[in-house]
Amino acid sequence: MGIARTALCTAMWMMGAAGLAAPAHAAPADEALRSAATKEQPAVIDTLRELVTTESGSTDHEGVATVMTYLEQRLRTLDANVDRVASATGGPDLVRGVFTGNGALKVMLIAHADTVYDRGTLAKEPYHQKGNLLYGPGIADDKGGIAVILHAMALLKARGWSDYAVVTVLFNPDEEIGSPGSGETIATLAAEHDVVLSFEPSPAKAVIEHEGVLLSAAGTSQVRMTVQGLSAHAGAAPEQGRNALVELAHQVLQTKDVAAGVPGAQLNWTTASAGTARNQIPERAEAGGDVRVMQADSNDNLLAALQAKVKESPLVPDTTTTVTLEPLRPIYVAGERGRALADLARAIYGELDGRTLLMHPTTNGGTDAGFAGRSGKAAVLEGLGLAGWGYHARNEYIEIDSIPPRLYLASRMLIELGKRAHAPSR
Ligand SMILES: [Zn+2]
Repeated sequence: MGIARTALCTAMWMMGAAGLAAPAHAAPADEALRSAATKEQPAVIDTLRELVTTESGSTDHEGVATVMTYLEQRLRTLDANVDRVASATGGPDLVRGVFTGNGALKVMLIAHADTVYDRGTLAKEPYHQKGNLLYGPGIADDKGGIAVILHAMALLKARGWSDYAVVTVLFNPDEEIGSPGSGETIATLAAEHDVVLSFEPSPAKAVIEHEGVLLSAAGTSQVRMTVQGLSAHAGAAPEQGRNALVELAHQVLQTKDVAAGVPGAQLNWTTASAGTARNQIPERAEAGGDVRVMQADSNDNLLAALQAKVKESPLVPDTTTTVTLEPLRPIYVAGERGRALADLARAIYGELDGRTLLMHPTTNGGTDAGFAGRSGKAAVLEGLGLAGWGYHARNEYIEIDSIPPRLYLASRMLIELGKRAHAPSR
């Protein structure tokens, strides 16, 4: 994901800090669970090492598939019913583990197995530990999230927890490229559960002082602008042509600030192509742009604004400019029910000697929580992975001392959600 880089700016830090106070009367910790979570730390580190030393960049299908096979085995060891779900784009399969209990809760836990790093990054940035920090490509985003899920389920298994109807664990192979092959599966399965917990990383304490969860994330869309002109010999008869490249350049400049007038929208033109031969006036040109949306109607409003703008004042006569917009990843908004999950998470953190949990209001990076929440059926909370930093950048790391509290948080949340899910007695 990206709570990465500058996404969590100072302003957000301040907003997060607004909720600093631990619950006034924190409940006592579940000491057995707390102790088990602490003892689990070396095993989590082993898992992280195994995950990180198998490189799995999104387009490295062999690497991702190797990680998926490993995860399939790990879930089997936990006695999950494991199967694979085919990717809609023909990439590596998703891996699904289903646990069946005898309670009422239906919950899904999600994390992604791919990273943004090409094969070979590990040789330059090897897995290693330095004090409290554990380094490796993808260790926070999102291999730490995978490790928390696996080991929380291990703790709960050791405890004999069965107060749930179903716990589904879903690992997908393509989050970092927008989940083209897994997004629909996530959305469909999420709608069959009451709660979805997503395990993207929490920003490191070294950066934001406290661990946290995330309450919203931008949706992602793609815009395309296409100009149709007329080709002609660029040397002998340029006046007979209608230069699509020139018109495209004009329209890109005209529209570059249009999103500023559309609430909740951001647009940056990022790709362009035109022409095939030096000596031919190009008849076709195309530009592509990255769109982030923070409101449900931002896509439609942005598209309408772009279409109006390109018609307003064309430069090259007889050219036609078309703009289309394709929504990719839906917006994630915790909403009332997601916020209730965040409140529960904060209360549980408070059990750990009043440990603080920040609620990060938003990020411009997309997350699969958007797909999970799309139907509105499941309550969704994001950001339950390990604390770390450097994602999508260099020298990515996790903070080792975040392992026990994050394990405690995930397992305690499941226990508590299991209790709350029981139908009211008649
Ligand atoms: Zn991620």
